[in-house]
Amino acid sequence: MSNQTHQAPPILLTIAGFDPSCGAGVAADLKTFAAHNCYGVAAVTALTVQSTQGVISVHATPGAQLRAQLDALADDIAIAAVKIGMLSTRANASVVTEFLDKQKFQHVVLDPVFRPTAGNAELLDISGLKFVRDELLKRVSVITPNIPEAEFLTGMEVKDLNAMKAAAQKLVEMGARAVVVTGGHLEKPTDVLCDAAGGEVETFGGDHVKSANTHGSGCTFSSAIAAQLACGLPLREAVILAKAYVTKAIEKSYSIGKGAGPLNQLFRFHQEQPARGVHEVPQHGMHPAAEPAAH
Ligand code: PLP
Repeated sequence: MSNQTHQAPPILLTIAGFDPSCGAGVAADLKTFAAHNCYGVAAVTALTVQSTQGVISVHATPGAQLRAQLDALADDIAIAAVKIGMLSTRANASVVTEFLDKQKFQHVVLDPVFRPTAGNAELLDISGLKFVRDELLKRVSVITPNIPEAEFLTGMEVKDLNAMKAAAQKLVEMGARAVVVTGGHLEKPTDVLCDAAGGEVETFGGDHVKSANTHGSGCTFSSAIAAQLACGLPLREAVILAKAYVTKAIEKSYSIGKGAGPLNQLFRFHQEQPARGVHEVPQHGMHPAAEPAAH
């Protein structure tokens, strides 16, 4: 075994569902963490059956198994930030709440997903969603609802930018430390940030990227915020950079099936195919191609 050691980058935990098409859920989160030079670990709340055409069914992880995953990871690894996505059931939302109370993480980003863009399956049952509103919301650093999620959590109708601002403020009054209401589906995609610490509401406009490949945008945005917080950025900067990152990942996306494709979270790693006959040779000289020919 080599005794060479490297310092680990920030390690993030995602608590979310598994999407076999790898566009959303833990797969999207882990790609996003990697793209930010972070290491990701994952506790899986549910196995979904889905393709790019939508979610077909959901098979929740039993609460005891989720708790065992979380405890095993937290006992072993120093976690710099947590991202919470699909929880599936109230039982799992409750396990996660107890876990946060025990561990007292510095950065926790909650994406309160309950319905997929495509397909009829629920990503969180209604009693779970009420539990998120009444209990989990107060325990995280920032919550990132889209417009339908903000409507459910606040009971308000959210149809325009002013209503997004009012909903963000209401969520802060309900106990959230900070809120980003995402307006990705608006003609001019605008996000609204309300931080209880400053009390100010800020809006961040963006360019609309014309693409059908937006599956997993919410997961990617919240994971990118978590990664930036883990790397030491203040929330406002983390939100600005996460929005720019998601926009670029949509711009660079490609279709992989018949439905909405994933974002390209790893666009920064894209390399042109080497020309034929040209191989990458490792610098340490151990690759056979780098060895002097034996005579
Ligand atoms: N599947 C899983 C496991 C998810 O976590 C999510 C969103 O959070 C979805 C599907 C739905 O993603 P989208 O609505 O972006 O298609």
